[in-house]
Amino acid sequence: MCLQIGCHLSCSKGFLAMAQTAVSIGANTFQFFTRNPRGGAAREWQQEDVDAMLILFREKGIAHPLAHAPYTLNACAKEERVRRFALETMADDLRRLQRIPDAMYNFHPGSHVGQGVEAGIEQIADTLNQVLQREHTTTVLLETMAGKGSEIGKSFEELRGIIDRVELSSKLGICLDTCHVWDGGYDIVDHLDEVLEEFDRVLGLDRLRAVHLNDSMNGLGSHKDRHQKIGQGHIGMEAFERIINHPALRELPFYLETPNELEGYQAEIQMLRGVRK
Ligand code: FE
Ligand code: FE
Ligand code: ZN
Repeated sequence: MCLQIGCHLSCSKGFLAMAQTAVSIGANTFQFFTRNPRGGAAREWQQEDVDAMLILFREKGIAHPLAHAPYTLNACAKEERVRRFALETMADDLRRLQRIPDAMYNFHPGSHVGQGVEAGIEQIADTLNQVLQREHTTTVLLETMAGKGSEIGKSFEELRGIIDRVELSSKLGICLDTCHVWDGGYDIVDHLDEVLEEFDRVLGLDRLRAVHLNDSMNGLGSHKDRHQKIGQGHIGMEAFERIINHPALRELPFYLETPNELEGYQAEIQMLRGVRK
């Protein structure tokens, strides 16, 4: 199978424009925010836009568009009001995503802001138990986090803790962010096999559905979460070559979230296709 790769695109001009942009830069998938990343109301999708996009997907071989929940969403906030916003936003996003057959939905588990990891995990699972419905067709991905501040999801065990408490856990998957796991202390540069074995042991590789491909401005275990362009950070190009070709990863969709404009993304997509074996 050919490398499935894309990047984060702005959705301000609507769905069809996004799919066209992806095609124009050589991508065959993409990620987008479901609404303003800082929160707020989402515009309702026009059916003709969705239809046109689905046709373009078929024509151009685009698969697995990945919707990203807003950054402000915090399912384990201290204030009930903030947790309610997370719940309502996720429910609304998943309702709208029902119209895109192979979409996935990625979110940051949350920051416990001093309540403690255990309490945070409980609240995140509680939110998911209220949000997830049997009829949902979209796989919901928990993103691996760098562990900045009180972020939950900096270890595979924390993500396991959430999954174990969710009733409809068959709807859950994991999105592995290379910058985040590196910053979280998983050495994907010198010990990629071992990290993936650990992932398999704790979470099961069948849960792994997507990869965010980002280099890191900081060192292993730095817990900083500052993305760098591919090959220009502490992870480095050779490691990315191994990552996109690894038997456990190579069939997954990869999404760039590097600090780039469209031309930069296009160049990275080309560069990574160039080292695909
Ligand atoms: Fe993210
Ligand atoms: Fe990410
Ligand atoms: Zn990040």
